[in-house]
Amino acid sequence: MIQTDIIIIGAGPVGLFTVFEAGLLKLRCHLIDSLGQPGGQCSEIYPKKPIYDIPGFPTILAGELIDNLMAQASPFKPGFTLGEAAVSIDKDDENQFIVTTIKGTKHRAPIVMIAGGLGVFEPRKPPIDNISSFENNGVEYIIRNPEIYQDKVCVVAGGGDSALDWSIYLAEKKIAKRVILVHRSSSFRGHLDSVQRVIDMAEKGEIDLVTEAEVTGLVGSNFLQEVIITHQKEGERVINADHFIPLFGLKPSLGPIADWGLELEKGAIKVNTLDYSTNIPGIYAIGDVNTYTNKLKLILCGFHEGTLAVQSAFARIHPEKKNVLKYTTVNGVNGF
Ligand SMILES: Cc1cc2nc3c(=O)[nH]c(=O)nc-3n(C[C@H](O)[C@H](O)[C@H](O)COP(=O)(O)OP(=O)(O)OC[C@H]3O[C@@H](n4cnc5c(N)ncnc54)[C@H](O)[C@@H]3O)c2cc1C
Repeated sequence: MIQTDIIIIGAGPVGLFTVFEAGLLKLRCHLIDSLGQPGGQCSEIYPKKPIYDIPGFPTILAGELIDNLMAQASPFKPGFTLGEAAVSIDKDDENQFIVTTIKGTKHRAPIVMIAGGLGVFEPRKPPIDNISSFENNGVEYIIRNPEIYQDKVCVVAGGGDSALDWSIYLAEKKIAKRVILVHRSSSFRGHLDSVQRVIDMAEKGEIDLVTEAEVTGLVGSNFLQEVIITHQKEGERVINADHFIPLFGLKPSLGPIADWGLELEKGAIKVNTLDYSTNIPGIYAIGDVNTYTNKLKLILCGFHEGTLAVQSAFARIHPEKKNVLKYTTVNGVNGF
């Protein structure tokens, strides 16, 4: 059982900054995230995109913002349970919440902050009948460790930034033996630079670009061996391949949290803007996961919400203590 002051569900930018604000009040945090790394949407969807509306940073890459938030939180030694979705919440007879993950890891605390963003990311899967039997046996929907593609033939599918950027990466770094990028249209949705680079690399024979085509079949005994590509005009062709990587984006879903008895509106958790508390005393919801009048799904707004929520959490945990706002410029950052 992991004991802490605040369990934060979601290690996105908002959850991470909340660790810092809680730490200033001497409250310890433990973060749970279904993804294998911290950073939420910033790390998973757009780590290489510049953000222009973080105060004090005229521009910062989303991935760098997460590195900075991790560094800022580090004096307060947050705990992490990564790669495990929080699936249930209970209360014990000492009025503490017990949050259990899909792998059975239990966390106990008087306060829970849900910073679950768009929820548990689920990959959009192409409609291929037997695709599930090849999952982790040659089919991956997210590239977590590019090293597994060393000297392999990889068929990447998709028309957005992920498909373009990973095709470039796997080919340029000479990781994959061969990269075949399959896209159902002849135009791409990704950044113009990335599109141009893929076209240039295709002309040089560094990437095989197959447009107006889709992967329609997978063949193999245990592990993937062949991919069937159906071209809109030229019909079917079978390619020997070690990996099929469909990068069609991630579809958000509130997931198990939707069944926790929280008041919801259009898939988001309703909160009181006084302190971002939910209808369940002791549970707060901050960042993209919450809703209220005039809500803006911006990182900046989530930082503010987390800051106010920990002040309220402090009053719940220490009703006998008066909390006086102390500037970091005066008090510094005194970690654990
Ligand atoms: C392409 C793109 C560009 C953007 N550009 C900007 C911008 O320029 N400026 C800006 O301010 N915002 C921008 N945003 C929005 C910004 O990314 C979000 O507002 C921000 O990520 C919200 O942070 P969060 O911590 O609330 O949630 P998220 O970043 O969504 O993180 C939530 C985390 O919770 C986890 N989680 C959810 N449910 C569970 C569960 N049950 N168990 C365990 N873990 C769970 C998820 O895995 C996820 O890691 C952009 C978004 C996108 C997609």
